[in-house]
Amino acid sequence: MYEGVIQNLIDELGQLPGVGPKGAQRIAFHLLAADPADVRRLAAALVEVKERVRFCRSCGNVAEEEECRICRDPLRDLAVICVVEEPKDVVAIERTREFRGRYHVLGGAISPIDGIGPDDLRIKELMARLADGTVSELILATDPNLEGEATATYLARLVKPMGLRVTRPASGLPVGGDLEYADEVTLGRAFEGRRLLDV
Ligand SMILES: [Zn+2]
Repeated sequence: MYEGVIQNLIDELGQLPGVGPKGAQRIAFHLLAADPADVRRLAAALVEVKERVRFCRSCGNVAEEEECRICRDPLRDLAVICVVEEPKDVVAIERTREFRGRYHVLGGAISPIDGIGPDDLRIKELMARLADGTVSELILATDPNLEGEATATYLARLVKPMGLRVTRPASGLPVGGDLEYADEVTLGRAFEGRRLLDV
């Protein structure tokens, strides 16, 4: 539709989640009109995030060192692990200030339709963390949708022989949605009122 570099930019932007062809076009023309220094800062931030951010070797959260800020925090409760799908869920739960344990980021949820099975998630790593008996409660805070529920049930069955307290945030979260879309108060309450998951 456009020539060369503008179309390249629109095509690249159009690959981003939540950005359709119209949005890509709008962003591209916004950038064209923007101050060159602002655009350079954006470009630098894109490159920097790929160069500097890695994944925490214990929990799988985003980190700038071997371990993330939460895993390195000596004040966090070692007895509780909250299992989530993505790093953005960690941010959502941290915002509630209801949780003082540590996290485990799976990197997705079980979804046969998308060809994602247990082996594609960081479940082996979770089992390794549970092996030494330090953890007494596992909170399964996967998304309140089909894939999230299936993943929680799978994990609850898997760890059942270990005799942990396995809980799931209470209902009241928007069903079918993403954890990150729940507001802080709702998510905080869901955490407080978490119930035992009996499988
Ligand atoms: Zn970590």
